[in-house]
Amino acid sequence: MRRRSLYRNTLIMLLLLAGCRQPVAVRVSVDPRLPAQAGVRVAEVVRAVLDLPAGAVAVVPLQESLEPFPSKLEELQSMTPELQRRALREPWRHTLGILRTGQGLPLALVPELAPADRAAALMLPELAGLGLPAQASADGAGLVSDFPVAMLSWKAWTSQTPAEQRRLVLHELGHAAGLPHDQRPGNAMAPQPGVGEAWLDVRQRARLDGLLRDLYETTRKGQ
Ligand SMILES: [Zn+2]
Repeated sequence: MRRRSLYRNTLIMLLLLAGCRQPVAVRVSVDPRLPAQAGVRVAEVVRAVLDLPAGAVAVVPLQESLEPFPSKLEELQSMTPELQRRALREPWRHTLGILRTGQGLPLALVPELAPADRAAALMLPELAGLGLPAQASADGAGLVSDFPVAMLSWKAWTSQTPAEQRRLVLHELGHAAGLPHDQRPGNAMAPQPGVGEAWLDVRQRARLDGLLRDLYETTRKGQ
C-alpha cells in the first residue's frame, strides 16, 4: 500500500516536472526598444499560422539592441572594398552572436530592419523581414548564418493586415527552412505579396514543419 502511493507520487512529480520543461520550436526574441507585448502579438500569429501547441512559441526579451546592418552609408562609400566587406559583416555577426543562444528557431523582432539612415535602406527599402537557413560556408555578402534565423520589422508589421502578417511569417520562416522564392501567384514564397491568404504547397509545408519538428525535438532532448 505504502509502496504504491510512493510510486504514484513519484509519477505525479515526474509529470509535473515534464510540464514545466516545455520544448520550444520558435523563440520570438524582442529588441529592448520594443515592448514585450509586441513579441506576444507576433508569437500569437506564429503559433496560429504554424499550428503549434501552446508553449512551443516562446517570447524572450533581449538585453541588447539588434542592428544587423551597418549604420552610415557615406562612411561605407569612402571605404576600400576590403573594409566595406568587414563593415557589412561585423554588425551581422554581432547580431547572430546575440541570437545564437537559446531554444528553438530565433525569430528576432526589431523596430526597423533598414532605417532610412542605414546603408541597407538603399538596397532593401521597406524591408519587412528576412530569413536565412543554416549554411556552413561564408559568402561575400556576409549575410550567412550557421544556424537558421529570421527577423521581422515591427514598423512593417504594424502597417500590415493580418493576412499580410501571416504571409510574412510563412515567407521568412520558409526561407529559414531553406525554401527558395516561388513565382506561383499567391504562394507564400513569392517575392511579391499576392492577394488573399498566402499558401505553401505540401512539399514546402513539409520542409518547414520538418525544421520546426527538429528544433522542437532538439530543445526537448537538450533539457
Ligand atoms: Zn524572400
